Amino acid sequence: MNEESKTNESDTSRHFLKQWIAEDVAAGKTGGCVTTRFPPEPNGYIHIGHAKAICIDFGMATAFGGQCNLRMDDTNPSKESDEYAESIKEDIHWLGFDWGKGYYNAADLFDQMYEIAENLVKSGHAYVCNLSQEEWKAYRGVPTEPGKESPTRNRSPEENLALFRRMRAGEFKEGEQCLRAKIDMSSPNIHFRDPVIYRIMHVPHYHAGTKWCIYPMYDFAHPIEDAYEGVTHSMCTLEFEVHRPLYDWAIDRMDEMGLLVVRNGVKIRPQQREFARLNLSYTVMSKRKLLQLVQEGHVENWDDPRMPTVCGLRRRGYTPEAIREFCERIGVSKFNSQTDVALLEYCLRDDLNKRSTRRMAVLDPIKVVIDNFEEGAIPFAEAQNNPEDPATGTRQIPFSKEFWIEREDFMEVPAKKFFRVTPGQEVRLRGACFFTCTHVLKDATGAVTEIHGTYDPATKGGNAPDGRKVKGTIHWVSAKHAVQIPVRLYDRLFTVPDPLGVPNKDFLEFLNPASVKTVTGYGEPALAEAKAGEKFQFERLGYFCADSKESQPGKPVFNRTVTLKDSWTPQKA
Ligand code: ATP
Ligand code: MG
Repeated sequence: MNEESKTNESDTSRHFLKQWIAEDVAAGKTGGCVTTRFPPEPNGYIHIGHAKAICIDFGMATAFGGQCNLRMDDTNPSKESDEYAESIKEDIHWLGFDWGKGYYNAADLFDQMYEIAENLVKSGHAYVCNLSQEEWKAYRGVPTEPGKESPTRNRSPEENLALFRRMRAGEFKEGEQCLRAKIDMSSPNIHFRDPVIYRIMHVPHYHAGTKWCIYPMYDFAHPIEDAYEGVTHSMCTLEFEVHRPLYDWAIDRMDEMGLLVVRNGVKIRPQQREFARLNLSYTVMSKRKLLQLVQEGHVENWDDPRMPTVCGLRRRGYTPEAIREFCERIGVSKFNSQTDVALLEYCLRDDLNKRSTRRMAVLDPIKVVIDNFEEGAIPFAEAQNNPEDPATGTRQIPFSKEFWIEREDFMEVPAKKFFRVTPGQEVRLRGACFFTCTHVLKDATGAVTEIHGTYDPATKGGNAPDGRKVKGTIHWVSAKHAVQIPVRLYDRLFTVPDPLGVPNKDFLEFLNPASVKTVTGYGEPALAEAKAGEKFQFERLGYFCADSKESQPGKPVFNRTVTLKDSWTPQKA
């Protein structure tokens, strides 16, 4: 275990990255501005794992009064697009972060990268190699034994330069030649064994157009981008740890070429450190897999409310505050593990409880009739819009002789401790009155179709003047005032905690067939006015939001964001 991993990682206020940066600031290495970057590849929509990286990259810059750049790491043109780049910007802003003037495209540095590559060729630090990919892998070998040198490794710089220029001029087919750094074929780290730094791709670039048919590899491009932007602290996920020697190698070469940025008299030498990626239970977190779900139609799109993408979570009804709180709580560590989605949902409920408007809705309705009710006796119930925020005031909810309640709030033969509606048991109808069921109507199959009962006029408002208590309070929606509301009940997208980790099984086999169920419920009249994106707590049911895409003025469509309590029982893989 190295020094970094020994720090107390549950103490997020001072995790190892923060300590590392603090030491560099104290040592005067930053030239007065801690500079970080978030470097997404615009080849998909960002997900909650990226949100963790965003919170770290932007969070560290903020913590030290520095700057976090947003850089589109667009060095692989075959999968990148403007649609993705735009969505990334929107999602980062929504999460509550801003890069100010620090917006970059890796592709804007293609000229400089090419020049650095030529310099490496001229100084004997790089050579053109014509091994096929399979040959190249075979030559590279295994960590325990030295690799075999490419036959072209010791060609003269002049010959290499001529070949590299011909690569650039488009004289070779893809895979025919590549440029490799000349480093160390016997390094125990196989990523250090003369890695490929430029490859031929006859593909136009969404940002750079048709200017190039050779493109730098990520490992080569990343340190160059960091160096040009004057990044002091380059944080990424653990899988890049083994690539760090190459990162440092590239920075050393740039230093030799005099290309490092000088800020306030301090030469900025970017450094890379790694943290564990976020893995979340009951979902998948790779853009490639998420793209597959979209392309094969297992979900509607990238912003399907079941997706772990930032746009999917937003549409589901998540708040940026809840996501940021979650990222704060999971902390920063050097050990890969899986985080229980229940923690994310906990943060979400906690935040929604504070900010969401309360409304009554019935999603699985059964009709109730109060036989002794004179229409108009209780015209409405009064209720708070949000007890957590008294400034939101109260509202009047129309009440009447006939109303809907939740089917599960009735039992003809009550189970033990069932305090809701059952013949002979008094219950409170939230804010309206006490009600006692007397009898039910049934259809030919014996199913209950209507509940009948009486109310006590003295309990108007929902409390008895004689102080008698009831054990159950249920929600209701007046039948003649109800608005019909389409509601999508979302559940987890997968049925097992780690769909990618089950041996010999394809993750698609674990798609939850019940991940969405659409019902038509009844809501109190105020719900008709719900605006797209508006968030509610449907009393006793959970948190819901008006869908941002499909809601029309006066005709909202609701998504269930999360249930009120965690009711999920994990299934075994
Ligand atoms: P994926 O593995 O989902 O395809 P990626 O790593 O290819 O993602 P990039 O666009 O290259 O996606 O990632 C941008 C930044 O986000 C990188 O610095 C990467 O380390 C970080 N990142 C990606 N996935 C996660 C994750 N699950 N947890 C934390 N950080 C992540
Ligand atoms: Mg990547």
